[in-house]
Amino acid sequence: MQSLTVDAVGVGGGCPRWCQQLPGHLHLRDNGGDFHTALVAAIDLPAIEGLRGEAAVHLTLSQYVTGMTPGEPVIALDLSGEEDGGIDGLTIAEARRIADALYRAIALLGGAWSPEDADVRA
Ligand SMILES: [Zn+2]
Repeated sequence: MQSLTVDAVGVGGGCPRWCQQLPGHLHLRDNGGDFHTALVAAIDLPAIEGLRGEAAVHLTLSQYVTGMTPGEPVIALDLSGEEDGGIDGLTIAEARRIADALYRAIALLGGAWSPEDADVRA
């Protein structure tokens, strides 16, 4: 059986290496859980006349954890500032910044993850 360290999967109150919360931040209850989280990037995009207003992109990592089971770590891309959740007219430089942030997020998570990788030692 493959065994990962508690630190790598975030079980038992330990945090994965990418979590930005204070150590011991998890508050696990009998039928509930808590999240490990990290902000990878907050990218402010200036207005482009005739195309879009000011916008922002927030790229975060999160992992829901219960007392027995870590959820799969996920990447969230929040496109704030637009009613429909999208941003029109990304420039090449802006798209590159977002792509770089996505690559950083993937690298922080260390590649593929599956529930079978979890080691549920307390
Ligand atoms: Zn954490």
